[in-house]
Amino acid sequence: MTIDSPTCPICAAPSRDAGRCVHPKPAMVAGVVLDLGENALRMRRCTSCALRFKYPFVPDADLIACYASSSGDNWEHDPNPIKRRFDTLRQLIESNAPGKRVLDIGCSNGALLKHLGEGFDRFGLEPSAEASGVASARGIAMLGSTLDDLDAAVRFDAVLAIDVLEHLTNPAAFVRRVVEHLSPGGIFIALTGDHEAFGWSLQGNAYWYAALPEHQVFYCRHTIEHLARINGMNMISYERTSHARQKSSRIIRDGIRGTLHGLIRKCGIAKHTPAPGWLPARDHMLFVLKKP
Ligand SMILES: [Zn+2]
Repeated sequence: MTIDSPTCPICAAPSRDAGRCVHPKPAMVAGVVLDLGENALRMRRCTSCALRFKYPFVPDADLIACYASSSGDNWEHDPNPIKRRFDTLRQLIESNAPGKRVLDIGCSNGALLKHLGEGFDRFGLEPSAEASGVASARGIAMLGSTLDDLDAAVRFDAVLAIDVLEHLTNPAAFVRRVVEHLSPGGIFIALTGDHEAFGWSLQGNAYWYAALPEHQVFYCRHTIEHLARINGMNMISYERTSHARQKSSRIIRDGIRGTLHGLIRKCGIAKHTPAPGWLPARDHMLFVLKKP
């Protein structure tokens, strides 16, 4: 198949080929088999903002169909709040938001909003009806599935997108909409993968985070700075971190295993099979953008 040269979905600059995408066979999303067909064949790299993206994108409808037919037990009912850094997120909101109105996009069963407590006005968006029902029962005001469901005039002091940005096929439009829904001084807090991480550079497209079929776009600090600039936002915090806090023994074990797998792949062996998960790696970024 001939691969043409798509432009960057954020800045419209030309992109370069960054190798073949690596996915498990069969590809699974939320426990459901997904036929990728001719989608997500190649990884592309923007020559300007450094975004990496799979090409062609897996259509949103295909992914939504997987989520819709998955069983509810794909989501942890009560994640450990310390492990998931809910304390850090709460502190970022308390220190930087101008008020108490908080929206969590893709809030799942509302575990994070529940953790924030009743001192906040807590709002959620969630496409899974089952998870959304649990969030409602926890006292979260559910406003719909996605940003499309928000009333144009509604404003928040803090908008959260935790493990969301990597799924978007139009991240520029997403961030623009988030900014529109922020009050003056409001903040946007996001956690997503950072493709400049050590293990990712070592293992390339076989890296666990890149090999998940539902992950379609990958950022680095430079991309986020670009997104902030074009939306008139200021980056007030950026931290390279892991997805969740892990025990030291696991950090060491996965670190050794991941490094060995990376070296094997550098030698051209097993290049097209996903590397094992490396969840304790510092391969995420947690950042805060503030509206002036
Ligand atoms: Zn770009």
